[in-house]
Amino acid sequence: MFEVRTDERTQVVDVTDRVAEKVSDDVESGICTVFVRHTTAGVVLQEAESGLLDDIEAFVAGLAPSDGDYRHDRIDDNADAHLRATVLGESVSVPVEDGELALGTWQSVLFVECDGPRTRRVDVTVMS
Ligand code: ZN
Repeated sequence: MFEVRTDERTQVVDVTDRVAEKVSDDVESGICTVFVRHTTAGVVLQEAESGLLDDIEAFVAGLAPSDGDYRHDRIDDNADAHLRATVLGESVSVPVEDGELALGTWQSVLFVECDGPRTRRVDVTVMS
């Protein structure tokens, strides 16, 4: 487990190194699951190029308009964030080979905040 502190309402944070730290060198072959215990944040695998991170933030914000007429806003004014997180998903799985995340060349693990700023919890489970 590690925490991610976000500063913006919608923000993409590259957590690849923090996930990799949780993978023991002695895992010859296995699977690493990265799970977000939240309903207004998600996690995806994508390229961590700075322009693309901006593009993803804009894309995610556009998934559900902030001024939509949402029923959930009657009790908690963040339905747009829940809807955006629904599309992103709450977990990713990455193969582990010889103690390393077996990511593609351009793949990074990206935490996506949809209702920041907040402090978030990310769980990393490695099974071998
Ligand atoms: Zn809510």
